[in-house]
Amino acid sequence: MSGSTALSFLKGIGAKKAAILKEEGISTLEELMGYFPRRYLDRRAMKSISTLLEGETVTVVGKVMRTQLEGASPGRSRFKVWLGDATGVLELTWFRGVRYFSRTIVQGEVVAVYGKVNYFGRQAQMQHPDYDRLSLALDEHADTEGNDFDLYNTGKVIPIYQTSEAMKQAGLTSRQLRTVMARAFEVAAPAIQENLSAALLQGSGLMPLAEAYRQIHFPSSPELLEHARYRMKWTELFYAQLLFALRRSDMRRNRSAARFTHSGEVTAKLYRKLPYELTVAQKEAIREIYRDLRSGSPMNRLLQGDVGSGKTVVAMFAMALAADNGLQSAFMAPTEILAVQHWLGMKRFFEPLGLKVGLLTGKQRKKEREAILAGLASGELNIALGTHALIEDGVSYKGLGLVIIDEQHRFGVLQRKALREKAENPHLLLMTATPIPRTLSMGVFGDLDLSVIRQMPAGRRPIRTSLRNEERREAVCDFLRGQVAEGRQGYIVYPLVEESEKMDLKAAVESFRHLSDEVFPDLRLGLIHGQMTPEGKEGVMAQFRAGELDLLVGTTVIEVGVDVPNATVMIVEHAERFGLAQLHQLRGRVGRGEHQSFCILLHAAATLDARERLDAMASTTDGFIISEIDARIRGVGNLLGKEQSGSLSGLRIADITRDFDIMQSARRAAFEIVEADPELRQSSHQMIRAWYRKHYHNRFSLADTG
Ligand code: ADP
Ligand code: MG
Repeated sequence: MSGSTALSFLKGIGAKKAAILKEEGISTLEELMGYFPRRYLDRRAMKSISTLLEGETVTVVGKVMRTQLEGASPGRSRFKVWLGDATGVLELTWFRGVRYFSRTIVQGEVVAVYGKVNYFGRQAQMQHPDYDRLSLALDEHADTEGNDFDLYNTGKVIPIYQTSEAMKQAGLTSRQLRTVMARAFEVAAPAIQENLSAALLQGSGLMPLAEAYRQIHFPSSPELLEHARYRMKWTELFYAQLLFALRRSDMRRNRSAARFTHSGEVTAKLYRKLPYELTVAQKEAIREIYRDLRSGSPMNRLLQGDVGSGKTVVAMFAMALAADNGLQSAFMAPTEILAVQHWLGMKRFFEPLGLKVGLLTGKQRKKEREAILAGLASGELNIALGTHALIEDGVSYKGLGLVIIDEQHRFGVLQRKALREKAENPHLLLMTATPIPRTLSMGVFGDLDLSVIRQMPAGRRPIRTSLRNEERREAVCDFLRGQVAEGRQGYIVYPLVEESEKMDLKAAVESFRHLSDEVFPDLRLGLIHGQMTPEGKEGVMAQFRAGELDLLVGTTVIEVGVDVPNATVMIVEHAERFGLAQLHQLRGRVGRGEHQSFCILLHAAATLDARERLDAMASTTDGFIISEIDARIRGVGNLLGKEQSGSLSGLRIADITRDFDIMQSARRAAFEIVEADPELRQSSHQMIRAWYRKHYHNRFSLADTG
């Protein structure tokens, strides 16, 4: 398709409409054709009013019988519509944009509404439904006369386009877009160029691109529409996976890394000195990592495991093998507290084996820092632990062969890249406690190898989680006291969100005072929050670790990675204000030792979403299930964070949580092509190469995870 054709050439699109479309990111014919319908009115998906069920989200087509504007004062008014079909009447209400809706929805008109059904007594209602005026759609399709058409008896599937308020006001409603689209297609159709090879089309049973565009915008049947959507999704996923395939193939063919062939003293002694038996899942992960480390190509692996599943020790085995082969390792953690904790833990293991372990954080004294920097540069230090200080400009390494990034989702693409670039093709191990479904992994981390620890160390008892409201506070405090009397420790965590950071911090500090003076005057309490100095934080953590404090009160600085096995109670204040992933992380701070642990979520009145989060926490401790629920509540993009969903934002029609089968098919095809022709030089791949460069490379380039 000639991508550059301007829209103003189209009949019916003047300068004003063209400007508004441009704001929506549509300035060429090609972009207009790529503006796919948001949904379709398909008679199979419509319901008649008498069959509506409470809570379901449906499409209803009916005629506006009556409208009513209530309440004159702005902000208080509402607009009501009674929509009728042959079986009954549905009540529609708008509270916002009342004036606009009251002007556009008029009696006698046939509309399709889409929304959630609620019953008020026996009266079915919808609030703020999406709506689409259909009356004129009739003329377009010219299959009925007048307004009394009956969609139930036509075979038509009508596309509904998303239209912004500005578009609607400029005369670009969904209905009008259908007309524009028809004109655009007439002009564009002859120029649409296929973007998949004949072999792919045939091999995967795909419809030609031009036909797919036609069916997407003007479906001739639900079946053909389905084919067309499949074709479009497949193409998108194919090009997304092609990026992964090309990247992996580049790693394998063009880059070589040190082979860690020698398994010696350090590895053997680490194994013997472990105070516990590794789980089967840990052993399997270590085996996979060792295979990579010996292969001669750089490892590029993501280790996924729920909070508390024991990822650190797996990383330590990788570091041990590096040391056995005379190479340095660097291990980066997202917070100071965590870096220090890892440093303490690893020193304890590695120093008796004759290795030198150094810590580098942003806030060290000059002398200390210089000594570490010298040790790293000379290769005297075998292992470096640290925060992002490890990637700063002045830091250089000697014989850096292995790079490990803990809680990798806390770092940006550039930070991960910067650490990797401290050496030439080091082996890379990324670790994460965000257990994302396999489907997502393949869509987002498709160029990484994946190891999953889906098993907790033996002897762990599942954490008991309970939801409590304010009235039960006293009982919760008594319970906490009881645990401390048995020699255990506990956390009390307060929410801290950016928008109200100051007030939140104040509330946390005040509560700490109240708790230590009034509620637990006889216990030893510590306070920790983000505004303290690094020394201050570390001092408190050290006391807590050593058992010199009974209770640690703080903000979410203790969310990530903190490991004190004797702590058995996690109390979260205002749990309704936390996200699900955060709650799960916080809960993961307990249940790390042999004692039964507890998580108590104190909450005030909760919104529906918050209620769902709290219920999810109470119903399972499995991080994989939690993240699936989280993905459902927040959407996949939010679950992964803005940056990591970069590869998803390139997807317009495919949805990797739903279209897993399509992704697998497209992935297989992409990897086969790159396997056979790594640089896409064969004549049959020229077109794919050109398309990829032109349309997809930039769109997906944020997918860079390593
Ligand atoms: P995470 O995967 O959340 O990073 P950690 O590596 O911090 O988990 O491990 C959590 C706790 O479990 C630590 O105290 C660690 O010593 C302990 N641990 C790890 N592996 C085992 C095992 N196989 N058996 C018993 N305890 C283990
Ligand atoms: Mg960890």
